[in-house]
Amino acid sequence: MKKDTLQIRITVIVGIIMTAACLLLTANSLFSARRYYGDYAELLEEGLVEYDPVLPDGVLPPAIEPDFYQTAVRKFSFQSVIAMMVIGILALALTYAAVGRMLRSLKELTRSVGEVNDGNLDRRVELKKAQGEVLELTDSFNRMLSRLEEAFLIQKSFAANAAHELKTPLSVMKSSLQVLEMDPNPGTEDYREFMADTKQSLDRIIKTVEGLLSLANLKDVPADSEVEVYPLIKQAVQELSAAAHSGNVALSAVGTDGISVYGNPDLLYRVFCNLIENAVKYNRPGGTVLVTLRQDADKAYVEVADDGIGIGEEALSHIFEPFYRADQSRSQKIPGSGLGLAVVKMIMERHNGEIEAESAVGEGTKFLVTLKKI
Ligand code: ADP
Repeated sequence: MKKDTLQIRITVIVGIIMTAACLLLTANSLFSARRYYGDYAELLEEGLVEYDPVLPDGVLPPAIEPDFYQTAVRKFSFQSVIAMMVIGILALALTYAAVGRMLRSLKELTRSVGEVNDGNLDRRVELKKAQGEVLELTDSFNRMLSRLEEAFLIQKSFAANAAHELKTPLSVMKSSLQVLEMDPNPGTEDYREFMADTKQSLDRIIKTVEGLLSLANLKDVPADSEVEVYPLIKQAVQELSAAAHSGNVALSAVGTDGISVYGNPDLLYRVFCNLIENAVKYNRPGGTVLVTLRQDADKAYVEVADDGIGIGEEALSHIFEPFYRADQSRSQKIPGSGLGLAVVKMIMERHNGEIEAESAVGEGTKFLVTLKKI
């Protein structure tokens, strides 16, 4: 019963409207029949009118019983009422069937929605039989499923990636320790090597944990102070100039003071640091990194451009996902946790800003940050 509620409801509503229309039409017919033929019969009986004067010459009027017209009116009324009832019932049955047919795709959609669970998010509802609004609804539902599936997959891989990212440096530390233990008389040089390896692994663990903490806490951090952008850029360039120098990369910034946005200075500083750090890290000796601050009437634009190793088209669509690292950076053993750009993206969302990337392998990469100006 519950399953057919809409079908029954529409049928009942159509039924009520149709019955009212039939009743009115039948009442009108009955009234007209009684009015014209009933009155005519009475007048005829009283001899006040003559038989149908339009009969052709020489044709005699049929022999008419005194109550001929009353009987005819009764028969007409009876037939009209029966016809009304039969037509009404037939129309109702047809309405029920037609509505059922119209709602079939909606029922199918309802059934498919009911069958969706975390184990079959890759299923899609067939669009073939749907039409009109139901087609739109099915399409929206399928698109929502795709987004859900994507979010679910990212979440599922998140824990595995985080564990892997922490396990690798821990395993490196453990094996360095075993190597040291196996040596009966380790020298100062062996200890130094062990300490250097351990420091590198610890740095990697700290970076991963910091990234994870940022991703977890970002939503609660206030982001509504007035922040001047150029001093933050200069500070980030200053902090990364040593890394740029050791990689033989020319790092410079162009911009003007006096451009401010609403936000959190620490988080925005983090965005610029992460982008500039990547531009230096994924570069080549002799390469350049240029940070430019521009503005128009209501927006501030920060562009971080490098002429480093670049990012392939397929990788470019994933770089903002947590733990994603392009094959090139893995194969070239460039250190990183794959969390930097995920944090950048979240910070930009927190600031209602935008971040876009364009790149060509071997030519370089450009990141463009857009923020609303005060
Ligand atoms: P990571 O810790 O690996 O640097 P990110 O989230 O900052 O993590 O970056 C994700 C991936 O995007 C990197 O591993 C790298 O493959 C790619 N990438 C980011 N910035 C650049 C860049 N400027 N040039 C080339 N590749 C980049």
